[in-house]
Amino acid sequence: MFGIYGDDAISPAYACYNGLLALQHRGQESCGISVNDRGVIDSYKNMGLVSEVFNKDILNRLKGQMAIAHVRYSTAGGSVRENSQPLVMRYIKGALAIAHNGNLTNAYEIRRELEHRGAIFQTTIDSEAIAYLVARERINADTVEEAVARTMNQIEGAYSLLVMSPQKLIAARDPHGFRPLCMGKIGNSVVFASESCALAACGAEFVRDIEPGEIVVVDETGINSIKDNCPKNKKKSLCVFEYIYFARTDSEIDGISVYESRKEAGRILAREYPVDADIVIGVPESGIDAAIGYSEESGIPYEKGIVKNGYIGRTFIKPTQAERANSVKLKLNPLTSVLKGKRVVVIDDSIVRGTTCDRIVKMLRSAGATEVHLRISSPPFIWPCYYGTDIPSRGELIAVKHTIEEICELTGADTLGFLPPEKLSEMLFNKTDGFCDACFSGRYPTAVPKKTLEGKERGGVDYDQKITKKC
Ligand code: AMP
Repeated sequence: MFGIYGDDAISPAYACYNGLLALQHRGQESCGISVNDRGVIDSYKNMGLVSEVFNKDILNRLKGQMAIAHVRYSTAGGSVRENSQPLVMRYIKGALAIAHNGNLTNAYEIRRELEHRGAIFQTTIDSEAIAYLVARERINADTVEEAVARTMNQIEGAYSLLVMSPQKLIAARDPHGFRPLCMGKIGNSVVFASESCALAACGAEFVRDIEPGEIVVVDETGINSIKDNCPKNKKKSLCVFEYIYFARTDSEIDGISVYESRKEAGRILAREYPVDADIVIGVPESGIDAAIGYSEESGIPYEKGIVKNGYIGRTFIKPTQAERANSVKLKLNPLTSVLKGKRVVVIDDSIVRGTTCDRIVKMLRSAGATEVHLRISSPPFIWPCYYGTDIPSRGELIAVKHTIEEICELTGADTLGFLPPEKLSEMLFNKTDGFCDACFSGRYPTAVPKKTLEGKERGGVDYDQKITKKC
């Protein structure tokens, strides 16, 4: 998400465009920008990458003083145009635009309750329930921020939000702080972004992260913060996978550099799983930083062993297993001159279904590597995520079905080592006051949903529990 409350010196649409380009790694299915021109909200959104969806003519048409924007990777609700964001509601108090990152854990119940009272939904995403609640609460609340505050006391789970009313731009983060959200400044304009790399992209300076449970309101009177809205007993639970995979390496989240944390994970892997090898390589992009850390700690030289075609989206996005396997080949190519005759340590950020590591090991062997030692800079995935990380049902997770030895056998790796789960806080320099590692530990910071909205369902809790953990 990206948002700007601007002055006349900056085009909010262009600022959003630059911000979204920097956030493209967070979602590549659809994108959109909503601008507010003295109370009138206009939007443009479509399926596709930011550079495909927007052009000069569209951006020039989107005039205004403030704007919010979004890139989407579907974790709740299908990948269709209606589900793209920002969502714009027109209701009795005017217009309201909303952008949301995260997944609600009580979306199903809220939606059913609203539907029983006559609400008609146009999308299948949980974000629409938030928009509906804010609009409903606004009718009896004195201000839009009060409506947002009341909504936050009804929704549960992960949400970083940007809400744009005719007069105000509001940023809010759920009381657990599952997803990141930060604030910056450029001249007299205030900017919000999911990650700090997007602030730099539009020339803004980082000011601070929005705190868990905080609501920041920007209007003509300036910037106001509301911190006493949510109950204080919620434990901070920033998603640790933001550092492992989601975030861009040049972002800093809640005071910790993504790059440094990834390098630290590599150092930990070198201490936990040392091996005699000639070179260390990383699977682009997120595996590279950890490979540099592994090399520093072990003294084994770092090399570029795999080249990535930067014009192909994340392989995970392909719907079928055959398509996923094929796109690994399209996306990554081995550097034979580096690999031939070498004992190789290769680092990737995670193993989910096992498609990527299987292809990588085979690719390295066919390029002449004599040994392949796989190191993974996260623990094994063994539980579903309900907070916005797209993890398939437990039956598809390779670490649920197979032991380390079995994964080595399946992939052809000589050895395999995952980051030990108890070392996750070490990877974050013991600096964070709380993070969520439920996908690795099964310790969920909130009640997990009994039912989810249609379109992206997990395996189901009963089914999930029948499978025993292997790794
Ligand atoms: P897999 O090939 O199924 O084992 O998935 C692992 C690969 O997908 C790794 O190289 C990761 O970089 C990437 N990955 C992991 N989690 C996700 C996710 N939630 N969404 C998209 N890609 C992911």
